Amino acid sequence: MGLKHFLTEVLPESDSFAAQGKGRWGLWSFTTLAAQFFFPQRYCLNCGSICLKPGLCVSCAAKAAALPRCKICASFVKTGGLCSNCEKTRPLFTQARSAVPYEGKLRDYLLEFKYLEKTWLRRPLAALLMQVYQQYYHSLPFSIITAVPLSSHKKKERGYNQSAMLTQLLAKEYGLNYQKNLLRRVLDTPPLASYNGEQRRLILKQAFVSQEAQGHTVLLIDDIYTSGATLNACSAELLAAGAKEVYGLTVAAYDDRGS
Ligand SMILES: [Zn+2]
Ligand SMILES: [Zn+2]
Repeated sequence: MGLKHFLTEVLPESDSFAAQGKGRWGLWSFTTLAAQFFFPQRYCLNCGSICLKPGLCVSCAAKAAALPRCKICASFVKTGGLCSNCEKTRPLFTQARSAVPYEGKLRDYLLEFKYLEKTWLRRPLAALLMQVYQQYYHSLPFSIITAVPLSSHKKKERGYNQSAMLTQLLAKEYGLNYQKNLLRRVLDTPPLASYNGEQRRLILKQAFVSQEAQGHTVLLIDDIYTSGATLNACSAELLAAGAKEVYGLTVAAYDDRGS
């Protein structure tokens, strides 16, 4: 591990660990950092226990992998079958998959990654995507991988597109053809959290445009799947531009297990 890697990747995680009340900067932190330099460790994004790989510990990863998902979309459901959204309206993408339910500590990390510039989270969060990719998508013939885009105005304001960061790491790991300009966001939309699925669909209807995608099987990446309106709006454009099929992959998804 080089010094640059240590400063940009390990230090921020140690800082976060210390901020959780497990230590203060001082002798304890110094020895922890020294130990991490020689024996790099990570903390599970869900339970906080030490793990050698970024992302989830073995136990949390196994639990997440075993959670039943909607047969079509990325939502988590109680006993398999379809989620309440897909029962009402089938999405335009062929299938979407997600690593974890959008709740608890993972939800906090995703918000910090998206809004608080904690970009060091890209590696552990991309590790979650990789696990799902291995589980569900490894044998599918994706000819293009791309990310849900931000508008140029939002990108300028935030300085980075969190979904593009994850896509870059996933594409590199599996040698996938990353086309970062395949989709463009041409409309700024208001935060969608307070709108229902149908309202989101209408708001997003003309938000994206796609370049030529004739005959391609596209893997589309985003950070969070809630109603599916964003993946659906992107899929509509990709299919209109000639894509054969669109698959979605997100870090977290809506939890429909309560219904
Ligand atoms: Zn864990
Ligand atoms: Zn569904």
